[in-house]
Amino acid sequence: LTAAEARAALLRRLEGETFDVLVVGGGITGAGVARDAALRGLTCALVDKGDYASGTSSKSSKLIHGGLRYLEHAQFRLVFEGTNERALLMRLAPHLVRPLEFLMPAYRHQKPGLFVLDCGLWIYDALSKFSSPKLHRTVRAERLSKLEPGLLKEGLEGGILYYDCMTDDARLTLETVLDARALGVPALNYARVARLVKQAGRVVGAEVVDVLAPDARPFLVRAKVVVNATGPWSDAVRRLADEPSILSASKGVHLIVDAARLPIRHAVVMRERNRVVFTIPWSDRTVIGTTDTFYNQAPEDVACDAADVEYLLERVTNHYFPDARLGPDDVLATWAGLRPLLKPASQAASASDVSREHEILSRPGFVTIAGGKLTTYRRMAAEVVDALVAQLAVAQRGATAVAPSHTEERPLPGGAGLDGYAGVARLAEELAQTPGVDAAVAKHLASTYGARAPELVGLMRETPPLAERLDPELAYVLAQVDHAVESEQAVHLDDVLGRRVPLLLRARDQGLGAAAKAAARMAARLAWSADELARELAAYRALVDVTRRFRRAG
Ligand SMILES: Cc1cc2nc3c(=O)[nH]c(=O)nc-3n(C[C@H](O)[C@H](O)[C@H](O)COP(=O)(O)OP(=O)(O)OC[C@H]3O[C@@H](n4cnc5c(N)ncnc54)[C@H](O)[C@@H]3O)c2cc1C
Repeated sequence: LTAAEARAALLRRLEGETFDVLVVGGGITGAGVARDAALRGLTCALVDKGDYASGTSSKSSKLIHGGLRYLEHAQFRLVFEGTNERALLMRLAPHLVRPLEFLMPAYRHQKPGLFVLDCGLWIYDALSKFSSPKLHRTVRAERLSKLEPGLLKEGLEGGILYYDCMTDDARLTLETVLDARALGVPALNYARVARLVKQAGRVVGAEVVDVLAPDARPFLVRAKVVVNATGPWSDAVRRLADEPSILSASKGVHLIVDAARLPIRHAVVMRERNRVVFTIPWSDRTVIGTTDTFYNQAPEDVACDAADVEYLLERVTNHYFPDARLGPDDVLATWAGLRPLLKPASQAASASDVSREHEILSRPGFVTIAGGKLTTYRRMAAEVVDALVAQLAVAQRGATAVAPSHTEERPLPGGAGLDGYAGVARLAEELAQTPGVDAAVAKHLASTYGARAPELVGLMRETPPLAERLDPELAYVLAQVDHAVESEQAVHLDDVLGRRVPLLLRARDQGLGAAAKAAARMAARLAWSADELARELAAYRALVDVTRRFRRAG
């Protein structure tokens, strides 16, 4: 089946069947719900108005963590859930969720001091049931300065070393969608819910617009329950059901600089007033983030501004790393996202004070899931599907006996059959034996696709030019573009370069140099005309411009 034929078949299925559940939103939350529902035997469909993970789920700090700072607010349950999900995801997706060592320095003028931090970390380790790859350690100033030489020495008391995990948020979402698809879910990106359809006051389906064929008439997807999993758009979709608003969005920005400009050996936790900012090593790059400010404009317009860059560099990073003297010209790329936080009951002093808990609001035929974290998506999804099952059982007078969630046992597709981190390393070694696949590419493929990596190597063996790198500095190869179109529903150039092969974030030129090559490959697979090809390239350049908006204001 070509990509166009596969899409046409999905559209026919969506229009032709009545589903138990229609999930609106293909971020991590909606993807998790669709996967869990399908695994329990419910019939389920999934639509997203853009690409999967094009909302918040590709804009997070990409940490799978318990959230150490929630301990300050005594949110023990949140930390317990987060650290335990972390342990599960390390097992179910070792190719995507990897341990990372964090360093939290303590300075004499700061509170809490080293002793209290150490106690906090014991609680953190205990709440994770000691599942962290290594228990935390406390180190004194002298040793700390050797471990992280660029760090501010003045007033340094010591620090704590501990572990959390790093992931690729967009890929984690995509793999969750892929698994839902493997379980029979018709999942369609670029399909927008424009209206909810009610019968006798109950939502019974949604009118969906095929965003790729705007002239086509909207079509009806019938479902016993519609799940609103649209993150920052939750209120907009709730309005379609005449439900009141519940969100107060907060903007968070990340900056990427060359690792040579800020060489770090650990993820460093920089405390700033009542919040923390991370610097995270990302192979050839260093990521700095995030901000946390209330935001009330259209979610689509969120971008990094000059003030965000100044705050992250001047106020925080240059203070903790005084010799780095980073300036706006050092910023290679940025990303900005919105936390879909729940409106606090009372006025919160700052966005950082708003709880990261999630909430499920269930009306007959219409369920909203909002708030929460990437880390806890599997658990949130299980709770949502429990609520759906309860509704469906009532609707069918208890006729259905649906099994409890078992996503805690099922690996994500790339994690299937891998024996943990040693398995990923072994796979990389095996792939590197293939002629034309060097060690860096093999490692990159194994830690991106896991057990699916041999599919990519197969493409490279069949068509050797596909082994060509997209950027000489990075291990991304042309075969990934083909695979994104043929196996991962990529439709636009930025679906590929923004999320599946993210040169937008990683390449020094944000992928502008490789765009023509990638687009030509996509054009051949998707039968683009010369005009369409030109439009895709222009749209990608415009996207890059948005990520550089902060430069204009300066
Ligand atoms: C700066 C920042 C840092 C973060 N860091 C972390 C972290 O390190 N660790 C962690 O665990 N969590 C983190 N989070 C939180 C986490 O990223 C979010 O909780 C999570 O990604 C939300 O996912 P979602 O699926 O609910 O929303 P989204 O990913 O935004 O998905 C919603 C989807 O709904 C679609 N949609 C909207 N309207 C419609 C419609 N009418 N029809 C069809 N589809 C529609 C959108 O296109 C979108 O794809 C962070 C968040 C931010 C902003």
